[in-house]
Amino acid sequence: MNICTSDIEKLDALIEGAKGIVITAHIHPDGDAAGSTNALLSYLRSRGKENVRIVYPEPLADTISFVAAGSDKSLVLDAVTAPEGCRTAVVSADLIFCLDCNSFTRTGVLEDMMRSSSASKVLIDHHLNPDVEAYDLVFSTPQVSSASELLYNILLALPDVAGNVSRLPRSSAEALMTGMTTDTNNFSNSVYPSTFAMASGLLDAGVDRDGILQKLFNEYRENRLRMMGWLLYENMKITDAGVAYMVVTSDIAERFGILEGETEGFVNLPLAIGRVKMSLFLKIDGNGFFRVSVRSKKGYSSNLCATRYFHGGGHENASGGRLFFPQDIAAPEAAAAYIERVTDELFKEEGYV
Ligand code: 5GP
Ligand code: MN
Repeated sequence: MNICTSDIEKLDALIEGAKGIVITAHIHPDGDAAGSTNALLSYLRSRGKENVRIVYPEPLADTISFVAAGSDKSLVLDAVTAPEGCRTAVVSADLIFCLDCNSFTRTGVLEDMMRSSSASKVLIDHHLNPDVEAYDLVFSTPQVSSASELLYNILLALPDVAGNVSRLPRSSAEALMTGMTTDTNNFSNSVYPSTFAMASGLLDAGVDRDGILQKLFNEYRENRLRMMGWLLYENMKITDAGVAYMVVTSDIAERFGILEGETEGFVNLPLAIGRVKMSLFLKIDGNGFFRVSVRSKKGYSSNLCATRYFHGGGHENASGGRLFFPQDIAAPEAAAAYIERVTDELFKEEGYV
């Protein structure tokens, strides 16, 4: 991995001189956002930094909140349950880290606060199209599994860790393994040689991978599986071009009593079907839009789909965005027709059919 020595020196000096540090990540923080932020928090604390806070735009979903269990609860804030605490932390920060997030645009209600802060700003991310102008120091590469993997390599390059994984605090190592595991769907996508090297290094240092897998994949509520079965049987549609989609409206979400985070991963399931090239998962959000997840097989661009038709972006084969009503579609019921129309157009324009 190409991490520039002079950038590491700059980062080390920024950390050394910082009196107040804020770490943030994207809206709807997922496993990688949770893993990378908590890993950095533990590292900075072990380095003697007293005044460090994680500031999320929204709380962690219950399904991944275990990642923060190793962190002091008073240091992990979100703008929904502790808006004033977040404001105070950002205003008093002289160093801000933005993780798993390519732009402050993706930090929701925190965006203006982050942009107007005079703190030094460091980006550590793996998404396409980073907003490099907004940061003083940029670590950005799409050629890694996750922000957690990039952070792992940055931490190892810092002089006090000096390549010795066992010098990372245990909670930091566990959080990094968790973030990488969720973004790769447990090694089924976005895996590079450096990803296995990271896993090997962390296992060698004693990380309990079995325990992490148990918490990530085997402790769901029954509702999730019932809903998954129903969606695949009753709700999933597949177009002639090979685009599968599922649309979760409020009545469906209510029927299964589904909570934030409990539909994570559903978008991947239709890709198991041979003729499916791309999969879209739409879930209603109370604020007048659908949250959209897009996944695709190699050679079909989720990123183009999310950017052109859903005000979003992300990675080549895993992206997300939003579909607004009444702006994009007249009403929620029109989502299916919209998906079919735009994906047909995309597949024709890009020569996928
Ligand atoms: P997910 O479908 O899991 O929510 O997101 C898949 C990927 O797309 C993640 O890397 C996520 O950060 C990115 N993503 C999700 N929503 C958006 C969005 O609205 N805009 C951009 N630029 N990226 C998004
Ligand atoms: Mn990520």
